[in-house]
Amino acid sequence: MAFLEVKNLTVKYGEFTALDKVSFNLEKNETLAILGPNGAGKSTLFKCILGLVEYEGEINWPEGKPKIGYVPQRLDFDKTIPISVLEFILLYSKSKKDFWLPSKVVKDKVKKVLSFVGAEHLLLKRIGKLSSGQFQRVLIARALFNEPKLLLFDEPTADIDVEGEMTIYPLLKKLSKELSFSLIIISHDLNIVLDFADKVVCLNKKKMCFGDPKSVLTPDQLNKLYGAEVGFHIHHHDHI
Ligand code: ADP
Ligand code: MG
Repeated sequence: MAFLEVKNLTVKYGEFTALDKVSFNLEKNETLAILGPNGAGKSTLFKCILGLVEYEGEINWPEGKPKIGYVPQRLDFDKTIPISVLEFILLYSKSKKDFWLPSKVVKDKVKKVLSFVGAEHLLLKRIGKLSSGQFQRVLIARALFNEPKLLLFDEPTADIDVEGEMTIYPLLKKLSKELSFSLIIISHDLNIVLDFADKVVCLNKKKMCFGDPKSVLTPDQLNKLYGAEVGFHIHHHDHI
């Protein structure tokens, strides 16, 4: 039985069709990558799963709807707001009872989730003082705080340093195993998809392919998905 079933998902922003009859399944504890060019509807797909936009078609959870953690592509955040990482994570916590726990207990809980992403030391640091890479980790910790069974990770916009990005994916994969959650990552980077995903959905408004990345991401398929842009994305030709 699938963990998530998406059937004929269609999203229209006014007259504009952003997603057109997209269908795929996700099994429990699998890592799924959504691969596609800019404007393909990848972030829109996440918004559907989160119930943030209206859609036609079906999103089914045969085993029951799980708690979902979400790492957005970007978060417009006023960096002058003087709040700490601790407060930031608590502010977005779904369980309001956390506010009523003794402060030491709450602090330890946030510290633990920060330790998953190697950011324990940032607990009392002001959000506005973090580097983009540190902020990314805090966003992941925030998403993990409610112990989700599904984590949606939207690829960061270009301002994250490459070194940071390279370590985030192995970390997410490791955490998904240790904390046993399913993972959906959006990426336009073919190498990340080949290295970390069990399955891939190629998306360009429509579903262009679905399956095991190493077998479905043929040069022909990638040409269809990206057109001329594709040459820039392949670094390790030996994969395909
Ligand atoms: P991706 O994440 O793959 O880059 P998005 O899902 O963000 O793509 O956007 C898909 C298309 O829908 C883009 O052309 C984008 O401009 C458009 N779009 C996204 N959000 C809205 C919105 N709220 N209103 C109108 N158009 C939107
Ligand atoms: Mg996007």
